[in-house]
Amino acid sequence: MGLAPVWRLRERRAEAKLGPGWIEIKQAVPACTACGLHKGRTQTVFGVGDEAADWMLVGEAPGAEEDRLGEPFVGQAGKLLDNMLAAIGLERGDNVYIANVLKCRPPANRNPEPDEVAKCTPFLKRQIALIQPKLIIAMGRFAAQTLLASDATIASLRGRVFSYEGVPLIVTYHPAYLLRNLPDKAKAWADLVFAKKTMATL
Ligand code: URA
Repeated sequence: MGLAPVWRLRERRAEAKLGPGWIEIKQAVPACTACGLHKGRTQTVFGVGDEAADWMLVGEAPGAEEDRLGEPFVGQAGKLLDNMLAAIGLERGDNVYIANVLKCRPPANRNPEPDEVAKCTPFLKRQIALIQPKLIIAMGRFAAQTLLASDATIASLRGRVFSYEGVPLIVTYHPAYLLRNLPDKAKAWADLVFAKKTMATL
């Protein structure tokens, strides 16, 4: 049996006080050379938003625009993400934090390699531990599979509330996927409505 939510929350708060804080990880990420991606980056893309946010959105990896500007989701997929957030009354930076599994851009936007995910995930996990969001939305296969330690498809993970270290987690499609598969936008919309309803219960 898992711990009751109130105890789990206290435990998480206590855990967040252990280990590196914001200052340390904000220094460690730009200095990181743990995988080969550091060689091709213009800069690392740490994450953006409210460090006490209730909502945390997790994507895959920076693309060209993100690598250039140092902020997640600022290209085409980011514009769609901002519109999706607005549709449920949310705005980047306002009670919302956005981060990626990888902090460096993979060459030619290829998929992350397992060793890159393994080396970079501790940063994301630390961001989650420090933010202690009420709800995580994992966008796309890499975010969902990394945080849930699963190889299940997005289609099979949608519509349920999972738990990442006691934090409720909902899975949806990645905005870049939606740009290529417009009919699935309706499903992503349903996922966001589900997330909003879930948040209201937390
Ligand atoms: N796709 C992502 O997963 N993250 C970004 O920051 C941009 C595009």
